[in-house]
Amino acid sequence: MKFQDAVINVTNKMNCKFIKSDDSSCNAFHTQGSDYCFRHNPDFKEKATLASKNGGENRRLQGVYGKKIELRTPNDIKSFLGMVINSVWTGKIPVQVGTSMGFLTKCWLEAYEMTDMENRIKKLEAGITDIDSQKL
Ligand SMILES: [Zn+2]
Repeated sequence: MKFQDAVINVTNKMNCKFIKSDDSSCNAFHTQGSDYCFRHNPDFKEKATLASKNGGENRRLQGVYGKKIELRTPNDIKSFLGMVINSVWTGKIPVQVGTSMGFLTKCWLEAYEMTDMENRIKKLEAGITDIDSQKL
């Protein structure tokens, strides 16, 4: 067997056996223990449909819902959240996008709080060191 034939043979063995309506074969790799790829495996048909549907749903939610916003202070977050809540309320943005923004702003506030606290502690520690050095 020539090298090229061997390559074709191996490649064919790895490919899904599904034949499309135009008589071409599916070029996707087959899943382990099956002659078919994930999409064409009869056992996975329901899962594949769901995956495809979820993919479509996620793509549908991707979009531009406003201009870029500077978020520097908790007050900026407060204004942003107010706008997001109103946008969900009036149907300008999908609920899922609003939920996602709610979660992200919560993360932002937690990170802000942590760094703010850290800076305060650093200042306090620096103050204590100053007092200690004055005693000497
Ligand atoms: Zn396939």
